[in-house]
Amino acid sequence: MTKMKTKSKKSSRSDEAKRHENQCKQCGKCCRIKVERFDGTVVALEEHCTFLDTKTKKCVIYKQRRQLKQQVLGRKCLTIWECMAQGLLPNDCGYVKNHPEYKCVVDVWDD
Ligand code: SF4
Ligand code: SF4
Repeated sequence: MTKMKTKSKKSSRSDEAKRHENQCKQCGKCCRIKVERFDGTVVALEEHCTFLDTKTKKCVIYKQRRQLKQQVLGRKCLTIWECMAQGLLPNDCGYVKNHPEYKCVVDVWDD
């Protein structure tokens, strides 16, 4: 009985994760390097995180991204929720489309 409960909890968590992942259009914009200029404007550079495959726009260390990015680059890979809270996702990101209150802080996307 307990086992079944644990299993169904696990599968509903992975269903939720899948549902969230399906909202991603794989544009790679969340993995672009963002900098703040002296005048306060925020720019998303053309440059991406080292671990982004620029052809597929997929993270090559996806499953271990939280640990590995920190270990190798000394910077953590933000969760999608941290990116959202900081306004770092583009307004057309699949994750924010159902959040009308969301406001992107990036002024310029350097393409
Ligand atoms: S910005 Fe949004 S849609 Fe684009 S890759 Fe990141 S999570 Fe996916
Ligand atoms: S480690 Fe994080 S920021 Fe870097 S490519 Fe993977 S998901 Fe994007």
